[in-house]
Amino acid sequence: MDKANKIWLDGKLVAWDDAKVHVLTHALHYGVGVFEGIRAYKTAGGRSAVFRLREHMQRLYDSAHVLLMEIPYPIERLHEACLETLRANGQAEGYIRPLAFFGYGSMGVGAVNPVQVTIASWPWGAYLSDEGLKRGIRAKVSSFNRLHVNVNMVRAKVSGQYVNSFLANREATLSGFDEAILLDTDGYVAEGSGENLYIVKDGTIFTPPLSSPVLAGITRDSVLRIAKDQGIPVCEQKFTRDTMYLADELFMTGTAAEVTPVREVDHRRIGRGEPGPVTKKIQEEYFKAVHGETPKYESWLTYY
Ligand code: PMP
Repeated sequence: MDKANKIWLDGKLVAWDDAKVHVLTHALHYGVGVFEGIRAYKTAGGRSAVFRLREHMQRLYDSAHVLLMEIPYPIERLHEACLETLRANGQAEGYIRPLAFFGYGSMGVGAVNPVQVTIASWPWGAYLSDEGLKRGIRAKVSSFNRLHVNVNMVRAKVSGQYVNSFLANREATLSGFDEAILLDTDGYVAEGSGENLYIVKDGTIFTPPLSSPVLAGITRDSVLRIAKDQGIPVCEQKFTRDTMYLADELFMTGTAAEVTPVREVDHRRIGRGEPGPVTKKIQEEYFKAVHGETPKYESWLTYY
């Protein structure tokens, strides 16, 4: 990875190589941490802005609430810490990773250790490759199901839950695909290992509802708003794997993945096997929004 200069750790900016924790850190053993992935972009006016910082930080605190974890800072302090980290790293664009976790103290699953907080930022290009963004990726339905709503807490972005994502993503990439698509435990399409998922059929966008085991993606929220503003009908409903095979278009969204077209699933070409018009429109409008080119979405940007 591309190192940056500093990492914010428990209230202070420290040198990148000094941002360390004890090996008996609770979260390292049991996965009890919550995190966010946020992006900052250069904007049309020349300044840089973080995209939907408030919503990401609110989700971090909500995730912590679900885990009975008290983040030892007011939310405004961590907003500022994200911006301080970007500035300290001289970063006009990049990825920001806040993480709060149970630190060192006692061992045992139920130990309630002091909560540590860190915020790192570094340059990170297209998550599913530039080529993937442009031409679309190839995906595989995973043999692993997405989390059941009463096995894990799907509204929370919890570190340990990414074991499920890891298994699915590794299986897919080792099989020569770019990304995994996970079904829920009833067999309906849920999401990618780190992305929400959408199909387009006869001009309507379909995406699993938030009652499905999917993360309430902030990019999902942005994309649904963009679709509405573009007059593209959206239907939040469950759909089957074969409905996905028969879609006109398919795309995935996430802070890291942005808006990535999917051109093939399980060796079935989707539509014409290239990004379709609805996907391209959503992608174009999303990139305009993050780069501050659409005045009505200005409130999504925090300049720094
Ligand atoms: N689903 C999962 C499992 C994810 O990890 C992510 C990435 N955070 C998303 C969806 C997309 O969420 P967002 O748009 O908020 O990045």
